[in-house]
Amino acid sequence: MSLTLTVDGPRWRAHLGSVAGANPGIVPVAKGNGYGFTLGRLARKAQWLRDRGHDVTTIAVGTYDEVAEVASRWDGEILVLTPWRPFVEPLDPGLTGRVIHTVSRLVDLEQLLGAVPGSRVVLERTTSMQRHGMSGRELWEAGEVLRRHPDARLEGVALHLPLAQGNHLGEVNRLLTDAIAADCGITSVWVSHLTDGELATLREQYGDFTIRPRIGTQLWLGDRGALRVTATVLDVHPVDRGDIFGYRARTAPKSGHLLVVSGGTAHGIGLEAPTGDQSIKARAATLARGGLDAVGFVRSPYSIDGKQRLFAEPPHMQASMLFLPHGARVPAVGDRIDVRVRYTATAFDRIVVEG
Ligand SMILES: *Cc1c(COP(=O)(O)O)cnc(C)c1O
Repeated sequence: MSLTLTVDGPRWRAHLGSVAGANPGIVPVAKGNGYGFTLGRLARKAQWLRDRGHDVTTIAVGTYDEVAEVASRWDGEILVLTPWRPFVEPLDPGLTGRVIHTVSRLVDLEQLLGAVPGSRVVLERTTSMQRHGMSGRELWEAGEVLRRHPDARLEGVALHLPLAQGNHLGEVNRLLTDAIAADCGITSVWVSHLTDGELATLREQYGDFTIRPRIGTQLWLGDRGALRVTATVLDVHPVDRGDIFGYRARTAPKSGHLLVVSGGTAHGIGLEAPTGDQSIKARAATLARGGLDAVGFVRSPYSIDGKQRLFAEPPHMQASMLFLPHGARVPAVGDRIDVRVRYTATAFDRIVVEG
C-alpha cells in the first residue's frame, strides 16, 4: 500500500564502511528528510560506524530544530550547519558540550559568547557560493573577539564550496591563507564537495591542519544499486477510447488501462519535466504521430517492465493514476513497480532494510 524504499543492508553498510574508511575525520551529514532515510536512522548508522572503529566523532545537522532528533541516537558531537543567529533558542544545557555552532558574522560571535562563554564554534568563511560567512578581514577580527573570550572553544574554519565544477583547490588555498593569517588558532578545516583527490592534496599541503569532510549524498546515496524504490499497484481499470476518468473528467485518448498506484504529492511525487527534444519541430512531429504526450499526458517517474509510464492526470495526495496503452503488459493489483525519485525530496511510507 505504500511507497517503499528497500535497502540491500549488507551492500549499503559495506558502502558506508568504505566511504568512512577512505575519509578519516568524516562528518556524516544528517539533515532535511535524512536523504530519504530519516534523521534518526542516519544518526544510528553514524553511531554504528563509530562503534566499528571508524574515525567519526561529529555528525552535522542542518538546523537547530534537528538537533534533538539525532542527539538521543548518537553519542558524539553535533555540528549545526546553518549559522547561529541571535534568534536561535538557547540549547538544552545538557547539549552545550556536544553542539558545535557555525558562526558566520562577527556580531553573532560576540553575542553567542556573551550569552554562553564556553560555546564551541566553527567560523565560516565565505566562498564563491556567497551563501554565508566572513571575509578574510572579518576572520582576523574574529580572532580578536576570541582572545577576549578565553573560554570559547574554537573548532576550526568552515568552507562550503559549490558542487564540483573543475578544481576547487585554488579557491581553498586562497581561503586557507586568510584563515592562517587570521592567527586565531585554527587547526581544523571543515569542507564540503571536494573530490578524494582534492582532499588528499589538501592533507598533504596542510599537514598541520585536520581536514574534516562533511559528506551527505556520497555517503548515504553513493551506491544507488543498494537502493530500490517501489510503489504498489492499488487498482487496475480497463478503459476504451472516450471513457471519462479522474478529478478533471478527462477522456481516454485510446483504449488501454488506468492504473492507480501508491505515491503522490505527499510523498514528493511530482510531474516530471518533459524530457528529450522540446524544439517546435520535435513537438510538431509528436503531434503528427498522435503520441500520448500530444494529448497532454505527462511523463511519470513510475516505470513498468523498464518503460517509464505516463500520468493519466497529475498525482493525487497519496496515489497517482497512470495510463497504460493497449498492448502493454498489465500488472496485477498488489504488484510492485519501480519509481525514480529524488531521495532528498521524498517521504517514504516504509523503509525496509533487507539483511
Ligand atoms: C548539505 C551540506 C553538505 C553535504 O552535502 P552533500 O552534497 O549531500 O554531500 C555539506 N556542507 C554543508 C554546509 C551542507 O549544507
